[in-house]
Amino acid sequence: MGIKNNPKPSWGRLVGNILFITGIGLLVINIFFPQIFAPRIPQVPYSMFIDQVSDGNVTRAYVAQDQIRYQLKGEGEQPGQILETTPIFDLQLPQRLENNGVEFAAAPPKGNNWLGTLLSWVIPPLIFVGVFQFFARRGAGGPQGALSISKSKAKVYVEDDETKVTFDDVAGVEEAKTELTEIVEFLKNSDRYTRIGARIPKGVLLVGPPGTGKTLMAKAVAGEAGVSFFSISGSEFVELFVGAGAARVRDLFEQAKKKAPCIIFIDELDAIGKSRASGNFMGGNDEREQTLNQLLTEMDGFAAGDATAIVLAATNRPETLDPALLRPGRFDRQVLVDRPDLPGRLKILEIYAAKVKIDSEVDLKAIATRTPGFAGADLANLVNEAALLAARNQREKVIQGDFNEAIERVVAGLEKKSRVLNEKEKKIVAYHEVGHALVGALMPGGGKVAKISIVPRGMAALGYTLQMPTEDRFLMSESELRDQIATLLGGRAAEEVVFGSITTGAANDLQRATDLAERMVTTYGMSQILGPLAYEKGQQNSFLGEGAMNPRRNVSDSTAKAIDAEVKEIVENGHQQAIAILEKNRDLLEAIAREILADEVIEGEKLQELLGRAQGVELAAV
Ligand code: ADP
Ligand code: MG
Ligand code: ZN
Repeated sequence: MGIKNNPKPSWGRLVGNILFITGIGLLVINIFFPQIFAPRIPQVPYSMFIDQVSDGNVTRAYVAQDQIRYQLKGEGEQPGQILETTPIFDLQLPQRLENNGVEFAAAPPKGNNWLGTLLSWVIPPLIFVGVFQFFARRGAGGPQGALSISKSKAKVYVEDDETKVTFDDVAGVEEAKTELTEIVEFLKNSDRYTRIGARIPKGVLLVGPPGTGKTLMAKAVAGEAGVSFFSISGSEFVELFVGAGAARVRDLFEQAKKKAPCIIFIDELDAIGKSRASGNFMGGNDEREQTLNQLLTEMDGFAAGDATAIVLAATNRPETLDPALLRPGRFDRQVLVDRPDLPGRLKILEIYAAKVKIDSEVDLKAIATRTPGFAGADLANLVNEAALLAARNQREKVIQGDFNEAIERVVAGLEKKSRVLNEKEKKIVAYHEVGHALVGALMPGGGKVAKISIVPRGMAALGYTLQMPTEDRFLMSESELRDQIATLLGGRAAEEVVFGSITTGAANDLQRATDLAERMVTTYGMSQILGPLAYEKGQQNSFLGEGAMNPRRNVSDSTAKAIDAEVKEIVENGHQQAIAILEKNRDLLEAIAREILADEVIEGEKLQELLGRAQGVELAAV
């Protein structure tokens, strides 16, 4: 009691200092010898890298003499995997990368020149000294600002008339445009709102599937309002030191406030904004959590009366976001940017068609009709593919035929003549595809079989049967879904009927058929036995499409069994129907399979004539 002047440093302080110095030490080691702490990047053989490049699966590569680090294309908005390989002497590599659209650069040189070596000896001590002085001045205020080495990498687009994006460049998302027009208004005339005491929204979340134009839309808002546009992507935060993400966010907002009014755009918000409760599977989420907290703090920080900065963010997985992000005063407005409908697709096609030379006979309306489910990015890609095809065939203008081929390319991935099947495999694939086609012809399920091919395409498909929707559809009937399931099983059924054995080739078909059947039972209430109940938990965003299954409601054991039995029943039923159809049309199956083995592709009138000969079977009542 009463002894206040303790000359000895307290134990807590001492331990704190030791920890702190160790921390800085590790940090410096990390900076100069990053491989020690770097996450292990998987090594693959060079031949695999080359395969992936020619399959068009690689987005970018950093090429060094003794090592290539590269990133695969991601699925949807997910960033792809990063891999490394050790190159062999390969003079064709740059050409190969370029031909396959890989973005590539030399890797930053390693420090094996004398200057680098010298610097690596001189700089660490300098940093030590610098860091210590910094903290000495701040009175050792903790590691907070220590990491401002990693300044915000926000890209700033200050619009000029050349590059300015406006609402005219975005089509097919009219509702979103209407809602965002209001935001443009806020940015242009912010004082009109603040004078009256209205609170200008701070955060707007653009929600929608990949490629629908969220990023484009955000730029257009800035363009329309004539304000600066700061953008940063959530995935850029992923591989950082703890604390660096938060520093970047802080810095981003600081920069932006200086340029207000402005737009801060955070792409892929889900990469930092994942619910803190969920997805904690790997541990070590500190970095993301700190970044998220900093973002929330910043958003709460700029109050009304401050300069107007509106934060736009984009995500295709709103259900994974932390609820804290969606509270009032944060991203309390959500704008849906959905896939375009028929008139929307037509408008988008018109935008991109105007940028290439197009034959006057091209019917954009017909193209729009044949591309339901395409997002804006797919349509832009489609027009470009068509133009490439026209150029390759030495035409001056793009014709309808180019578009037809481009649609198939975009739908099924690029044609790949390089993948060679042996004769036996080719035969199996032929019967498999004809099986799909025959069942699909008799049980159309809202689509018409337009082409059968055993030329491998893209990643997975060895052959494919193209079923074109006859029109844009929003509703599917139960019988159409059953048709689809039977058609999906047609491939496997053909293998059974013809060869009496099955291969692994049907795995994807079975997956899709089972998914469909499960949704019929648990989501659409199409089962007699289970009734019109939804056994999946409600889904806010049904546009997320096929892959996104909801968690099951809590159901009793017996219900769960009944669901399983019903799903199995539906799939098995489709299977039996497919087998019945193929057994009845066995001769036709042989005939078409022979044709396709000779020509590799059958389409058009010839195909319709062949399929027209198929005989229906009396299907047992379900
Ligand atoms: P998202 O951010 O939703 O994934 P992007 O805005 O990055 O999609 O879209 C990628 C590209 O696709 C755009 O740069 C644009 O060329 C094209 N695009 C996408 N949606 C549209 C649209 N609605 N209108 C016009 N072009 C679009
Ligand atoms: Mg985007
Ligand atoms: Zn198949």
